[in-house]
Order: sequence, then structure tokens, then C-alpha cells
Amino acid sequence: MIKWWAMASVVLGAMLFQACSSESAPKPAAETTKKSPREEAFAKLDPADRELAEAQGYCAVSEAELGSMGMPIKLVINDQPVFLCCKGCEAEAKSEPEKTLATAEASRKKVAEAKAAK
Ligand SMILES: [Zn+2]
Repeated sequence: MIKWWAMASVVLGAMLFQACSSESAPKPAAETTKKSPREEAFAKLDPADRELAEAQGYCAVSEAELGSMGMPIKLVINDQPVFLCCKGCEAEAKSEPEKTLATAEASRKKVAEAKAAK
């Protein structure tokens, strides 16, 4: 038990040390140290899909933020790629394709407007 704790504290100490030393080191152009869960989820997508998902921003069914529930699910409806927040939205997306595409389109507009406002 004691040994375990000693090891854990060494590992923790090393991690803390790394965190401190990386802060004083010159920063790269892009912030690569900390990734949000959303970024992690998006990182799992192909770069091309990732761009599309970023542009859509929100689930085409639930309108929840994409990436908030893990890797966004890609679906192709009427030859158009749409993204869903989770598997649970897939059936609904397929049962109402027109509505899903409309929601995705509205979502893309919302994201574009938010970007333009910045
Ligand atoms: Zn969902």
C-alpha cells in the first residue's frame, strides 16, 4: 500500500513538473496543450468531415452541440452529409430526412452568423 502511494506521488509530481515546465517553455503558434472534450471528439473525424461538422456545429435532430456527446455521427441524406450528436438521433434523422436537412441547414446558418458576429 505504502509503495503504491509512493509511486503515485512520484507520477503525480512528474506530471505537475511537466505542466509547470511546459508553461515556461516558448508556446507554439497553436494551443496544443489542453483539448476540450469537444475538440477531442472532433479530432476523431476525418479532416474533411471535421470541417463539415464544424460548419454545422449542432446536431441535425436534437440541436445539441456536436461533440458534446463524443464523436459526431456522420449521415448522408439525399447525398448531403449531415452530422448528429449521437447514435440515438440516427433513426429520427432517417425517418424525417427533409426535416433533418432543414435543421442542419439552419444550424450551418447559425454557426456562420455567430462567426461573422465575432
Ligand atoms: Zn443525439
